[in-house]
Amino acid sequence: ILDFKYFCDHLELYRENIRNRGLQIDLDGIKSLYNKQCELISRIQQLRKERNQVAERLKNIANTSLAEESNLYKERGKILKAQVAELEKQLETIEEALFLEASKVPNLTHPKVPIGNEEQARVLQVVPPTHSAQSEQKYNHLLITESLDLADFESAAKVSGQKFYYLKNAAALLEVALINWSLNHVVSKGFTPLSTPDLVRTEVVQACGFQPRGEASQIYRVEESDLCLVGTAEIPLAGYYMNRILDEQSLPIRMVAFGHCFRKEVGSAGQASKGLYRVHQFSKVEMFVLCNPCQSDVILEELLNIQMEMFSSLGFSYRVLDMPSQDLGNPAYRKLDVEAWMPGRSSFGEISSASNCTDYQSRRLNIRYRDKQGDIHYVHTLNATACAIPRMIITILENFQLPNGKILIPEPLQSYMGNRKTIE
Ligand code: AMP
Repeated sequence: ILDFKYFCDHLELYRENIRNRGLQIDLDGIKSLYNKQCELISRIQQLRKERNQVAERLKNIANTSLAEESNLYKERGKILKAQVAELEKQLETIEEALFLEASKVPNLTHPKVPIGNEEQARVLQVVPPTHSAQSEQKYNHLLITESLDLADFESAAKVSGQKFYYLKNAAALLEVALINWSLNHVVSKGFTPLSTPDLVRTEVVQACGFQPRGEASQIYRVEESDLCLVGTAEIPLAGYYMNRILDEQSLPIRMVAFGHCFRKEVGSAGQASKGLYRVHQFSKVEMFVLCNPCQSDVILEELLNIQMEMFSSLGFSYRVLDMPSQDLGNPAYRKLDVEAWMPGRSSFGEISSASNCTDYQSRRLNIRYRDKQGDIHYVHTLNATACAIPRMIITILENFQLPNGKILIPEPLQSYMGNRKTIE
């Protein structure tokens, strides 16, 4: 879960890291639990060694004139056995506590990450619009979906509750078009397409750095089972190679999956989350890469480039942000978000995220590779949104309003929409 030797040798680095991330974790407590674990392991090994010596001695003196001594050795053997059993019990308790505490420790942070809260996000690039739909209209997507009969929130509220939706008519077709368009684009870059399970074991969710338990958990758990609904296809993609040792030559492994995302969205009310912006269930095409540690910085750029190529081809304006230390979440070492201009809210809104999680997930999922010398190391993992459907629908509806009230379908999507040019 952690490289404890490195952790203990670099305690100040970890202390600064959790300060930068705005967290409070008892790092000294973790160090002392680790030391206790090492002490117990070494004591158990000593006692086992002595027990083996006693057993050996007993074997050698059987049927000899020293046989009378055997009672003494038998007694000693019994005492050693009881001592080992007692220390093993203590070790189990210590290991459990250490695992629990160490799971709270976030990944280290890339030196370029801005320190602080969301206000410190660094704008890396602003891309201007290139589309031809020049309109004065700046209706928000709720008005557009209502006037063009593209979504039904009321029926969804009746059937599933608040923050659910039905897409209708051209919007339902647009969802499928966006999935196919983004999957094809990413597959053309050499990614292997997968379709992933929506339900995964709780331990896998946890190993990916998500909190399946507790009041603040965003994860839905399935009653009377050990399963959770996935918050993102990142989870089943990350779990795909768990407990495997990969060949160095097979890296990087690039995967892309369409999947459903289920999120409790605890504590996210308010105008800004209305409509399709923040919902409990949505579709998403997600990229995932496993690589050699020396490749992960470059692959993060590669993932961002794929996202930018796709978004630029649609023609709306967007900006790229280097996310600050307090906005990374535990698994990410660095996170680059893209925000699209959303005229309906007169602001930018997040449409994608690309994260380098280095060895945070691979340690928990036990995904390793063997190098040319035969040594074994943990891989690095990265995840990135290719297309988060509801946010992309908002972006298209709000950016491509025509003066006649129709919506221009961006050119790359038209062939996926039966060559239609507009939504009307
Ligand atoms: P994440 O997996 O949290 O990085 O989210 C990936 C992308 O999904 C985000 O950049 C948003 O575009 C979108 N997204 C996240 N949460 C929601 C939600 N509750 N409803 C709709 N879209 C979301």
